Amino acid sequence: TSLITFFKSYRAMSFLFGNRSSKTFKPKKNIPEGSKQHELMQHAAATLGSGNLRLAVMLPEGEDINEWVAVNTVDFFNQINMLYGTITEFCTEQSCTVMSAGPKYEYHWADGNQVKKPIKCSAPKYIDFLMTWVQDQLDDETLFPSKIGVPFPPNFQTIAKTILKRLFRVYAHIYHQHFKEIVSLGEEAHLNTSFKHFVYFIQEFELIDKKELAPLQDLIDRLTNVTTS
Ligand code: ZN
Repeated sequence: TSLITFFKSYRAMSFLFGNRSSKTFKPKKNIPEGSKQHELMQHAAATLGSGNLRLAVMLPEGEDINEWVAVNTVDFFNQINMLYGTITEFCTEQSCTVMSAGPKYEYHWADGNQVKKPIKCSAPKYIDFLMTWVQDQLDDETLFPSKIGVPFPPNFQTIAKTILKRLFRVYAHIYHQHFKEIVSLGEEAHLNTSFKHFVYFIQEFELIDKKELAPLQDLIDRLTNVTTS
């Protein structure tokens, strides 16, 4: 992908994500205007527009790492929410009886807290559990404080890592089971740009273990190849 293509697709994506909230799977998570996090989000949008993803994911000088990870996590949730929202009619109890990412990977839902014994269920059910769970974490003021001066919990990085690890599975399911539909909807560039941004981000801060990324490792290698970025 050339820089221009990237830039165009990112702009198109921002447009879609910014204005088509009715299409999302779960309600869009808003970051309140005038807050520090909103300012960081605008910074992220501006640097992404430059087309240099490696630079765009880096912690802005003088900023708090937790705040930066929080803002980006909310952003990825919104992006995945939107992308999955466009294909829910294709991801059904019939088409996706299990939550898979290709023939080698199958996920059973457990949140480690309320659901300890993993539930084997269809992909739409699993993704519903997953996105609802993420939404609950993002809405929890003790985990994701939105008010100035309220500190992040000491285990915030661990929480963020778990959220991102789980969000990755939605990308993995979309790529493995619904890429054809994504292409037919003309969403291919959006998906690739969103996922590439996600990968650069988690690589920059080492947020997901390599073994968790295995279902999309080939794609990750291709997307992050220096000659194509
Ligand atoms: Zn599916």
